[in-house]
Amino acid sequence: MAQIVKRAYRYRFHPTPEQASEPARTSGCVRLVYNRALEMRTRAYTLEGRRVSYVESSATLTQWKRGGDYDFLSEVSSVPLQQALRHLQAAFANFFAKRAEYPTFRSRKKSRASAEYTRSAFRWREGRLTLAKMDAPLNVVWSRPLPEGAEPSTVTVSRDAAGRWFVSILVEETIRPLDPVEGMVGVDAGITSLVALSTGEKIVNPRHERRDRRKLAKAQRNLARKEKGSANRAKARLKVAKVYVRITDRRRDHLHKIATRLVRENQVIAVEDLTVRNLVKNHGLARAISDASWRELRSMLEYKAQWCGRTVVAVDRWFPSSKLCSACGTVAGAMPLNVRTWECACGATHDRDVNAAKNILAAGPAER
Ligand SMILES: [Zn+2]
Repeated sequence: MAQIVKRAYRYRFHPTPEQASEPARTSGCVRLVYNRALEMRTRAYTLEGRRVSYVESSATLTQWKRGGDYDFLSEVSSVPLQQALRHLQAAFANFFAKRAEYPTFRSRKKSRASAEYTRSAFRWREGRLTLAKMDAPLNVVWSRPLPEGAEPSTVTVSRDAAGRWFVSILVEETIRPLDPVEGMVGVDAGITSLVALSTGEKIVNPRHERRDRRKLAKAQRNLARKEKGSANRAKARLKVAKVYVRITDRRRDHLHKIATRLVRENQVIAVEDLTVRNLVKNHGLARAISDASWRELRSMLEYKAQWCGRTVVAVDRWFPSSKLCSACGTVAGAMPLNVRTWECACGATHDRDVNAAKNILAAGPAER
């Protein structure tokens, strides 16, 4: 049965100087509105024990625009500002429902500059996208086509740490599930590879990653040597950001390909529960990137499987997937991270990661 899903398509765009100043200014205003509204809600909550509604914060925003220190807010499109208040409303709803921590301020340094435009704040005509308060359509690099006849419902403009501009276009899309297949696979976040499969296959990191990481380490050393607050430091920081986004972009591409392939070839995909990774106490950037890509792959597998009529099962986090012999079921003793292959008393020799993937596959269907 076909289903309608909301799907975001992200493209790079090259703004004219005026076009760049508009979203930059808008996202600055978005952050200000979010932070001031958060402050207002916090004050009401802590001093009066009162919850502020979306309607109330929206009325306050109107007052801010009318005069006083924040009257410049009336110069940008009002839709992204309203969206910021809606996001804050959702953050508080999640907090009160104990699903999330108390909302925090958005800092200029840490949070990505972004502004969200709903249908009334952009024009979409003949494949050209024009945002509110702009004369000309955005110069978008259409790296892949939007689905035929797609009508965007929301458009989010953002700039990453490397100074690149992106527009993310949300469209509704009809997706038909794939024909059922027999295949089942266990997937483990590998220690020696990106992922290991129960079939014995190991998928490695994308090409160039080793070289990019060396470049990243060099750029970071260079940054550490620069004087705080200097222009050279800012330049060095941008360099680090550029290498970093190149690594994460290439990785995301790679993960999309892996997830698509696994979902196409298999009816059931068994994965290790996320929290297992938290037990591996090994900090540092390399590990952080690995953990992030495992989380990303998991979520890609989940939504792609859902779209295509496949099943992802997560195996319990206390399951000793690495130490269990997939041939005879004996649990081996301690298994330090540096052990890459091991031999069981039954005579089976295991690649650590592949053995874990086999066990995950064996345990997976039982969890359903
Ligand atoms: Zn054995």
